[in-house]
Amino acid sequence: MKLLEERIKQDGVVLPGNVLKINQFLNHQIDPQLMYEIGQEFERLFKNEAVTKILTVEASGIAPAIMAGLVMDVPVVFARKKKPSTLDNDVYVAEVYSYTKKVTNTISVDQKFLTETDRVLVIDDFLANGQAVLGLLEICQQANAHIVGAGIVVEKSFQDGAKLIKERGVRLESLARIASFEDDKVHFVGE
Ligand code: 5GP
Repeated sequence: MKLLEERIKQDGVVLPGNVLKINQFLNHQIDPQLMYEIGQEFERLFKNEAVTKILTVEASGIAPAIMAGLVMDVPVVFARKKKPSTLDNDVYVAEVYSYTKKVTNTISVDQKFLTETDRVLVIDDFLANGQAVLGLLEICQQANAHIVGAGIVVEKSFQDGAKLIKERGVRLESLARIASFEDDKVHFVGE
């Protein structure tokens, strides 16, 4: 998505450890117009899939997910990172290790918001090593929901996530694909 790539070039800051900071328009301050265009792009890509629900994880996945939900006219569910109460049996749970933050989060979704009749599009802001998306896919499997694919705003193609998702037979659509951060600059795949 050209507009997104241009915005990343303009505002993205490359941090040590292969981390891209896009706090100007997604991860802190949010540009609603750009998010809306991202939502439209996801709709264009998945419009033939009869999506009934979008699933993301808090916090940064919510902005692009909600815009996709608006354009596709389907509800958006976000997995919570707060550990569910031990009394709470009515949740799907997955463990997600974050290489960026070096912590394991338990993510959970209330069972009433995801069922076997759902056709789910998983959306997240970044795809790095794939653990967040794999956790969301695992939750869909627990619900016996049909996974139509994963929509990612920024894929770091030099990390393992894309391969791991495709290996599971899941359709992956990333709006910006980063090949490298050579010389602290963002280089997109195919540039
Ligand atoms: P993964 O589970 O694919 O390794 O990492 C995905 C999650 O880590 C994303 O939801 C995102 O919050 C965070 N993340 C991974 N890489 C980056 C990055 O380069 N920049 C930012 N801002 N977040 C990242």
